[in-house]
Amino acid sequence: MATPKTPAPVTPDALTVPRKEAPEAKTNLIGLTRPALREALIAVGVPEKQAKMRVGQVWQWLYHWGVRDFDAMTNLSKAFRATLAENFVIALPEVVTRQVSEDGTRKYLVRIAGGHEVEVVYIPEEGRGTLCVSSQVGCTLTCSFCHTGTQKLVRNLTAAEIVGQVMLARDDLDEWPEPGTGTGDAGPRLLSNIVLMGMGEPLYNFENVRDAMKIVMDGEGIALGRRRITLSTSGVVPEIARTAQEIGCLLAVSFHATTDAVRDVLVPINKRWNIEALLEALREYPKATNSERITFEYVMLNGVNDTDEDAHRLVKLLDGIPAKVNLIPFNEWPGSAYTRSSNNRIRAFATILMQAGYASPIRTPRGEDIMAACGQLKSATERARKSRAQIAAEAGL
Ligand code: SAH
Ligand code: SF4
Repeated sequence: MATPKTPAPVTPDALTVPRKEAPEAKTNLIGLTRPALREALIAVGVPEKQAKMRVGQVWQWLYHWGVRDFDAMTNLSKAFRATLAENFVIALPEVVTRQVSEDGTRKYLVRIAGGHEVEVVYIPEEGRGTLCVSSQVGCTLTCSFCHTGTQKLVRNLTAAEIVGQVMLARDDLDEWPEPGTGTGDAGPRLLSNIVLMGMGEPLYNFENVRDAMKIVMDGEGIALGRRRITLSTSGVVPEIARTAQEIGCLLAVSFHATTDAVRDVLVPINKRWNIEALLEALREYPKATNSERITFEYVMLNGVNDTDEDAHRLVKLLDGIPAKVNLIPFNEWPGSAYTRSSNNRIRAFATILMQAGYASPIRTPRGEDIMAACGQLKSATERARKSRAQIAAEAGL
């Protein structure tokens, strides 16, 4: 009797990764750190003695000139270009949709391997521009006021997918210098700052975020200084010291409450590392990075965390920490349980902080008409899924 064949196990990847990529998957050069790029080049035959020079050349093409085609790398021999093309690709995530807000904010929906999607937001300002970058698809944390936290699907982005967001925004802004035009460093940058405040908790994807930021900071490429990058965390305490040592960028922390009881509800990671533990880690940060102030983000939720007492308690908690407080008017999303504090309430809260000596700007929501404001990000397919469920519920199905 014939034995029935055991079906091959089906992994999630087998379902989601397009089959044609599997057999001869070439290494993507984007997202490799300098040491990793060196290894990759040596593995395809670059002699060790030449490796440093080759890394420098390829690096410049990728990250200074923004070139995507090996044939355009004109200072490399034809043979070497052919070797590169045989073994590597230069691949960015794919922009699926691009929306432009009335206020000039741009939101990109970006598709990454496996068909997942993340959102990236570009915010133009006078003389500068900030890119809000995502670090994960969705987020495993479930802050009760955040739209991203309601997304079921979660995966870490690779370093390539994180750097790729910066590169595709520069593509869209047409900000790469033209090869052969001197250093190409003229004028103020359109994309001058990065905030890791998109989807996801960057400190739950530490290595990839670190490698991506190292690439972005590298002086021979995109060259954004470490003080132009702000990483926002909900408070992953053990990774804060590591951020100081291994990235050295500016730090923002989603504080949002002045008692553990309230913070436990708003930012549930507080149950693991409470306010006291968080503040202890934050005290060390400016010393370790020789940097300025930490930004305390504080979302203003009507009747939840916005009283004068909260403001006074916040002042006490901040004692001894070089800090500024960023007050964020709550951005509503479909189904959210909170409302935004009134402008008067926010101003009164800010006044108490200012009188205590803390800069406390009120963040102007940007791109609200395209759902690009803080905490509104969630992939379009996830939204569609939710609205289909809502439609079914409304129809009594
Ligand atoms: N996971 C990281 C970074 C992404 S969130 C973090 O939590 O810090 C970026 C900022 O937007 C955080 O301060 C977050 O608390 C805030 N935020 C989330 N949802 C919001 C909303 N609906 N309105 C206003 N701010 C929100
Ligand atoms: Fe995640 Fe940050 Fe949203 Fe919390 S606020 S759910 S940590 S993305």
